[in-house]
Amino acid sequence: MAQVIGFIGLGIMGRPMAHNLLKAGHALVVHDRNRAPVDELARAGAKTAGTPREVTAQSDLLITMLPNSPDVELVALGPNGVIEGARPGLVYADMSTISPIVSQKVGKALAAKGVKMLDAPVSGGEKGAVDGALSIMVGGEKSVFDSVLPIFQVMGKTITLLGPLGFGGFTKLANQIIVAANLTALAEALTLAKKAGLDRELLLTALGGGLAGSKCLEQKRPNYLAGSYNPGFKIDLHYKDLGLIMETARELGVPLPTTAVVQELFSALRVKGRGGLDHSGVITLLEDLAGVST
Ligand code: NAD
Repeated sequence: MAQVIGFIGLGIMGRPMAHNLLKAGHALVVHDRNRAPVDELARAGAKTAGTPREVTAQSDLLITMLPNSPDVELVALGPNGVIEGARPGLVYADMSTISPIVSQKVGKALAAKGVKMLDAPVSGGEKGAVDGALSIMVGGEKSVFDSVLPIFQVMGKTITLLGPLGFGGFTKLANQIIVAANLTALAEALTLAKKAGLDRELLLTALGGGLAGSKCLEQKRPNYLAGSYNPGFKIDLHYKDLGLIMETARELGVPLPTTAVVQELFSALRVKGRGGLDHSGVITLLEDLAGVST
């Protein structure tokens, strides 16, 4: 098992994940371009470092939890990046949601330095991160996965090796297609029912008990009943993922007509200044179109 864990990216997700690793007794070296979460983790017992290169030089296992592909490319391959501090035998697990094609590119560049990379994006949101109950979708070599599994088990409950590097990311993108399309279908269905005058609580109970039932319906039920869409998972972040999905689909030659429409709806929500709403808030756009906004 790795002895020192480096952790870069201490935002909504990374901060509680790093705390859980400390609580489980692991030695941690942390870095973020924001000072506040670094200081907080230092008070909880972590060492700190000023650059990704310095974190990497002190780590046996390096974890990143960054916003998007360009951030991971910069931290991994940029000046003062992971590649400059790397030595043979280092294991690098990127847990951000990024393009799987970029993961493969970064993995190839780092492999030249003897680094073994896993892509390991997560699902489960801030609550899953705080509770150590994430679903972690991993791509990479089985022996590397096995060596990191005890660390993943501190942060997650469902941990699945899907195949080689990039396959974690492809799985996460598939996850995000299903969730966005499901929430948009729910939005259309509930808007139709609203205009017809149905009781939303009775409707959700009836739908939830049949084939239309889903985790999205169950988890977002309180939002739909209250008509309030505080995040949760923001429309802005899901829009970022829809961009990654379409980019990857074009690269692989896969038409995704439903996802393309959903992406435009999420784009319209951002234009309307609703990017900070929970992704279930896509219903507000459908309600506007139908003239049944509350
Ligand atoms: P966030 O924006 O809260 O955190 C990102 C952190 O990375 C920030 O603290 C930022 O300062 C740091 N950072 C960015 N660039 C950096 C750099 N060059 N050097 C050092 N630090 C840098 O984002 P988040 O919500 O924690 O999400 C992280 C990833 O997890 C994203 O890819 C997101 O899509 C994914 N994700 C988020 C959720 C969620 O519910 N928020 C759920 C599942 C997956």
